[in-house]
Amino acid sequence: MKVSVIGTGYVGLVTGVCLAEVGNNVTCLDIDEEKINMLQLGKSPIYESGIEEMMEKNLHENRLSFTTSYSTACERADVIILAVGTPSNPNGSANLLYLQKAAENIGKHLIKDGTIIVTKSTVPVGTNNKVKQWIQQSLTEPIFFEVASNPEFLREGSAIQDTFEADRIVIGTESRYGTHVLKELYSPFQIPTLQTSLESAEMIKYASNAFLATKISFINEIANLCEKLDADIEDVAKGMGMDQRIGPQFLKAGIGYGGSCFPKDTNALVQIAGDIEHRFELLESVIRVNSSQQIKLIGKALDHFGSLKGKKAAILGLAFKPNTDDIRESAAIEVIKTLLHYGATVNAYDPVAIPNMKRLYPESAEIQYTSTAYEAIANADMIFILTDWEEIKELNLPTIAELEKKPVLFDGRNCFDLRTIQKSGLTYHSIGRQILT
Ligand code: NAD
Repeated sequence: MKVSVIGTGYVGLVTGVCLAEVGNNVTCLDIDEEKINMLQLGKSPIYESGIEEMMEKNLHENRLSFTTSYSTACERADVIILAVGTPSNPNGSANLLYLQKAAENIGKHLIKDGTIIVTKSTVPVGTNNKVKQWIQQSLTEPIFFEVASNPEFLREGSAIQDTFEADRIVIGTESRYGTHVLKELYSPFQIPTLQTSLESAEMIKYASNAFLATKISFINEIANLCEKLDADIEDVAKGMGMDQRIGPQFLKAGIGYGGSCFPKDTNALVQIAGDIEHRFELLESVIRVNSSQQIKLIGKALDHFGSLKGKKAAILGLAFKPNTDDIRESAAIEVIKTLLHYGATVNAYDPVAIPNMKRLYPESAEIQYTSTAYEAIANADMIFILTDWEEIKELNLPTIAELEKKPVLFDGRNCFDLRTIQKSGLTYHSIGRQILT
């Protein structure tokens, strides 16, 4: 099939490359010329394992191309996939401006009957009907097209694997024709498909993310109770997860969720409910719990030191989770902001996310970036582990314990076994477990 993907971010690029990999002829479009120039040279603007190799292969085999031209992307496409960002408005609702602009541009350049325009971006219920109107109003001649909703569930860091091994593909369509085209598009992936209305497909995405966020805030609240009641959250979560009705996933206590999806999508769902005069109190609590959880370690540091003024903090991990360079809504942003507020200075390290964080916090007297974790730790009074990168989980604790200042370790991801910590002699605060001194 001839497929065009609009937006070459984390979702659009991975989708485009994977669809080319299974034999489609894919054109990826972005308005960001710099990104397109890089992509044309086979360089990925995002860090995602395996993406450059797969891109190079499909560029070489002429199944993949990159453009900034809507006429090139639209003129012959059987399917056009919208994967532009839908960030939060200041009130938490989803900002649909990028989507509207993209839809209007598609309308202006559509010349072939029968194209299916698929929204993969996460959008409020009812948006696909708006997409249809935006395209319709921009057409330069009467052309038959259909819209479809096809929310994306990939996770950054394992996006290619998630695309090939997804649990389900959800397709909300207007007609049997749309269902047929999309089922054919996805048939090489051999993944169970659920066909629904446009509205149900749109809701499935928000409901899924809100539910996962709820699981995280729930286990974090249990962790907060464990700390006061001498229970151990790791054992509690394990015991809960062994119940098949609950399941072990998303029961990892820590400093909360971040990233470009959960915070934005939970806020948007609260707004979607508000628009129909329904107060989604459960989700409001989930969001509140997460906000306080993100800076939980600062409270522990204040309790430990009394004051953080003049203290040096090593921040290990800036990305919102391991294996990505994405720092959107990362706990590290809140932790750094709060540490600086209390007069501490920061040495920050992350294997790949430093360039992104530097755009937000340029190097200064208060914040320095280091090229290894050990450099960040060298003269620190306290260490904050914020992302559970494999290399951070493998830190040599005895080496840290031998440092002159013997920094206090605040672990926001429960990276270490308590027995291992005990042997190291470090002072250790984690989430939902006893303090070791
Ligand atoms: P992103 O910010 O990484 O990429 C969006 C891209 O769209 C950018 O490259 C931008 O330049 C481009 N763009 C903006 N306006 C455009 C236009 N008019 N025409 C062409 N290109 C345009 O975003 P993302 O993380 O890939 O997310 C995209 C959508 O997918 C969002 O709705 C998000 O909620 C959803 N989603 C994201 C993830 C994820 O893990 N990142 C997972 C599932 C769903």
